[in-house]
Amino acid sequence: MSSDIVIIGGGLAGLTAANRAAELGLNPILLEQGSDPQYFCNSRFAGGILHVAFKDLTAAPEEITVAVQAQTGDGEATALGPVMAEECGRALTWLRSEGAKFIKGGSLEFMRWILAPPRPRGAGLDWKGRGPDVLLRKLTTNLSERGKTLRLDVRARELVVEDGRVTGVVVESGSATETISAGAVVISDGGFQANMELMRRYVSPAPEKLLQRGAATGNGDGLLMAEGAGAKLVGMDRFYGHLLGREAFDIEKLWPYPIVDPIAAHSIVVDKAGQRFLDEGMGGVYMANEIAKLNDPLTATVVFDDAVWNGLAADNRYPPCMNPVFVNAGGTVLAAPDLVTLAQKVGVSAEGLSATVAAYNAAVESGDTHAPVRTVSKFRPQLIATPPFRAIPVCAGITYTMGGIAIDRDSRAQAQSGDAIPGLYAAGSASGGMEGGSRAAYLGGLTKAVITGLRAAEAAAGETQEAG
Ligand SMILES: Cc1cc2nc3c(=O)[nH]c(=O)nc-3n(C[C@H](O)[C@H](O)[C@H](O)COP(=O)(O)OP(=O)(O)OC[C@H]3O[C@@H](n4cnc5c(N)ncnc54)[C@H](O)[C@@H]3O)c2cc1C
Repeated sequence: MSSDIVIIGGGLAGLTAANRAAELGLNPILLEQGSDPQYFCNSRFAGGILHVAFKDLTAAPEEITVAVQAQTGDGEATALGPVMAEECGRALTWLRSEGAKFIKGGSLEFMRWILAPPRPRGAGLDWKGRGPDVLLRKLTTNLSERGKTLRLDVRARELVVEDGRVTGVVVESGSATETISAGAVVISDGGFQANMELMRRYVSPAPEKLLQRGAATGNGDGLLMAEGAGAKLVGMDRFYGHLLGREAFDIEKLWPYPIVDPIAAHSIVVDKAGQRFLDEGMGGVYMANEIAKLNDPLTATVVFDDAVWNGLAADNRYPPCMNPVFVNAGGTVLAAPDLVTLAQKVGVSAEGLSATVAAYNAAVESGDTHAPVRTVSKFRPQLIATPPFRAIPVCAGITYTMGGIAIDRDSRAQAQSGDAIPGLYAAGSASGGMEGGSRAAYLGGLTKAVITGLRAAEAAAGETQEAG
């Protein structure tokens, strides 16, 4: 079999690249390892909110660029971030031209473009017939109506490289192995979060103690293939994720929602010694990353008071409010009249916790929003003063890895030298360099998938025309 462009992975990035390639006159073959027509992938499980750095996709690019820079800071994720700002409006227009339907989700800016119909706010996974599932099915139909191929139950395993150029893919289907020749290959396999060996190498000393907060289909095949072909890898230590109640390992209803981030970001997270070890004000994605770095990531606990539990934790906006949704779904909220008793219930040092809370409260009262309370004051710290005091044992949920194959603005995979590897592209969560960095910048996984998918297809089409 041969084609001018082979795309690995049928998530939103892969389906975007395949449809755009077909629109541009190429003859794409899209390979998907899942065998069910409604194969699982992160795109299908997503909440369906399209934003860039929590900005409306139709905001002025300059305004979005400022928001992107605020997320990425001066880390390595800055170079490609502006592509998101420049391209998100076009990505939205393209999706609508493919039949995507959106609704406005509420007053918060980042919820302006939600794939319709939205998932209801509530606990657990709820994907069937929701906006992202509907969009994936629509893009699959569009591809088939364009006369192009989606091959299910095919797992890409190796790239064929000739004279430094990627010219094909070796794939497995059942017990059969086959080589597909290709003018270009796009890797869009969704990252490496489900590959414990890679996760241990790059993200966490104990990856089995992180909860897979997604489809867990990103097994790092694309990353390993690209690395074998000489690709540079970037930003490998960061992932997109959230804090979840620790019982989420056993209780399905507790993942991927509700997330504990909103409480944690306004309160404190402590370790076994009862001490803080991260800056809660940096938000949930950052906190999940810091927890993952602990030798034992299952030792983090969020501590707060009754005012928080019956105040912001009961706020019924996005994400699904914790109180009472979390408890109703089986989550544990420990409560005690004083901090010593709470520490005993949680199993952390009572002395340590009391000292930590005293120092934290003093800093909050003094209005000092810098260390040791916050280095970023995005989330206003709340006093821990109103009994009963409360605690939620948490775990870090990993949705997708933010690092991956280094790409340029056209989604071309880069070699160690920084030059593009001829014939090789990466898109969506397989690509690295847009998100991550020291602040664990999250710019929006769905929008990233569409933009990088579009650009990969367009650059590959340009390359084919030049060659022809
Ligand atoms: C619960 C949840 C909520 C989310 N909510 C949002 C949200 O509201 N907004 C947002 O922007 N982002 C959200 N995300 C993140 C978003 O879903 C992802 O960033 C995005 O879908 C990534 O798309 P992708 O195409 O790169 O990867 P995926 O959707 O993961 O697709 C990759 C595909 O590649 C296939 N594959 C893997 N290896 C191979 C191989 N070797 N050969 C062939 N096929 C292979 C997989 O089976 C999979 O189908 C959410 C994710 C989850 C899990």
